[in-house]
Amino acid sequence: MDLPKVMGVAISHPDKALWPDGGDGAPVTKLDLARYFEAVADWMLPHVRGRPCSLVRVPEGIGHPRFFQRHPMSGLSTLVGRTRVDQDKPPYLLVESPEALAALAQFDVAELHPWNGRPGEVEVPGRLVFDLDPGPGVGFDAVVGAAQDVRERLEALGLSTFCKTTGGKGLHVVAPLAPPARDAELDWPTAKAFAREVCEAMAADAPDRYLVQLAKAEREGRIFLDYLRNDRTSTAVAPLSPRARPDANVSMPLDWSQVRPGLDPAAFTVRTAPALLSRGRAWAGYDAAERPLDAAIYRLKNPGGRANR
Ligand code: ATP
Ligand code: MN
Repeated sequence: MDLPKVMGVAISHPDKALWPDGGDGAPVTKLDLARYFEAVADWMLPHVRGRPCSLVRVPEGIGHPRFFQRHPMSGLSTLVGRTRVDQDKPPYLLVESPEALAALAQFDVAELHPWNGRPGEVEVPGRLVFDLDPGPGVGFDAVVGAAQDVRERLEALGLSTFCKTTGGKGLHVVAPLAPPARDAELDWPTAKAFAREVCEAMAADAPDRYLVQLAKAEREGRIFLDYLRNDRTSTAVAPLSPRARPDANVSMPLDWSQVRPGLDPAAFTVRTAPALLSRGRAWAGYDAAERPLDAAIYRLKNPGGRANR
């Protein structure tokens, strides 16, 4: 029997259920996953390309052992690229093409987690990611409010912001950064310190709603503002990546007009996301929205001062 092909990649065990239920009662198979990647590849790849990318494999489907992998594993197609970042470490993975996504589906890869440096420049922060994690007892509308709060603060500092669901419990707010001016410094410790200060200010202004400490015990009823994604080797789930969680939810890029009370992150699945994506205007203008971090830092340090940079 001939195996079905997606973007030229043969998919073995095409009927293997990776998710028992895609939210519509039917399992999401390996072939479904490959076709999903084909449908969203053009949208997704600009956010993944050129950045080392960790993967979550679920060879027996979700609910069975999963493997978070940073480095090439034996058997992985050469359609997936390799890049050596640190001479003393094994190479990392690069997902550069639609065909590479098909190869990932063939390898039972459910999730993609790229680094956040500029493509091809791991040392230079390419985007900030604010990871909003609701503690027990926090409703999703409160997470929506937190995302709007982060947006307001970052835009007041001159940054542009984009929001996505995580495919899990929370939201991510992403701020694309402009490349540093010639000879200017833009490094990860600087970016992380900036993200920490923004989150600490938010928590100081509304300590009943937010916290920045890692202590899990204190999260009840509050939203943890996780600025720790903003590091050289830290990852965040890629926009449009599925999650290896029940119902095959995906990390859905949103238009800010959708980030309103009543937003239901469960609406975005491997089944529903492609059509919703083509109908909406999520993350329109992302490339043109890169803003310089040094100007935002200047504004943060000089509140009320003239934004003269
Ligand atoms: P949620 O909204 O449910 O919090 P999330 O994607 O933000 O979804 P977190 O649990 O907050 O999930 O994880 C934050 C990030 O940590 C992930 O996006 C991922 O890139 C990274 N991560 C996840 N699993 C691992 C792992 N096993 N090892 C290292 N990093 C991981
Ligand atoms: Mn999170």
